[in-house]
Amino acid sequence: MVVGIERKPWDLFRKSIVKSYRQELWFNVPTRKGFVNITPQVMQCLKESNIIEGLVLINAMHITASVFINDDEPGLHQDLNVWLEKLAPREPVSSYCHNVGEDNADAHMKRQIMGREVVVAATNGKLDLGPWEQIFYGEFDGRREKRVLVKIIGE
Ligand code: ZN
Repeated sequence: MVVGIERKPWDLFRKSIVKSYRQELWFNVPTRKGFVNITPQVMQCLKESNIIEGLVLINAMHITASVFINDDEPGLHQDLNVWLEKLAPREPVSSYCHNVGEDNADAHMKRQIMGREVVVAATNGKLDLGPWEQIFYGEFDGRREKRVLVKIIGE
């Protein structure tokens, strides 16, 4: 005999229409450093998710790579490279303490400066970016497979 259904607080979440989506994007940049415009792949993720309104998190899953938003303009990318080399020069490697079987201290620092992740609003099924905003994967110690996580929540 059913005398009633006890509702727990988490039942509210079970009945929620909030959806989630997870995808990994893999990259193998053939050089030590490189910037890859990943906006089309992120747009594809949003499309696959069927989420219309929500938030899109895009983060590098490696500590020598970044995800950032800026202009897709080659001169600016060159300027960023020059600026990063001034802040965290590749050479001399011997100037760093992180040389414990690795020689990539500069790459860790470049990642720190350029950031781990971005969050973009999803509005009406589209990435709600500004007119010149593009999403980039920033590689600072490439020549191997690395990945970016895309997590989308919304409805
Ligand atoms: Zn390292």
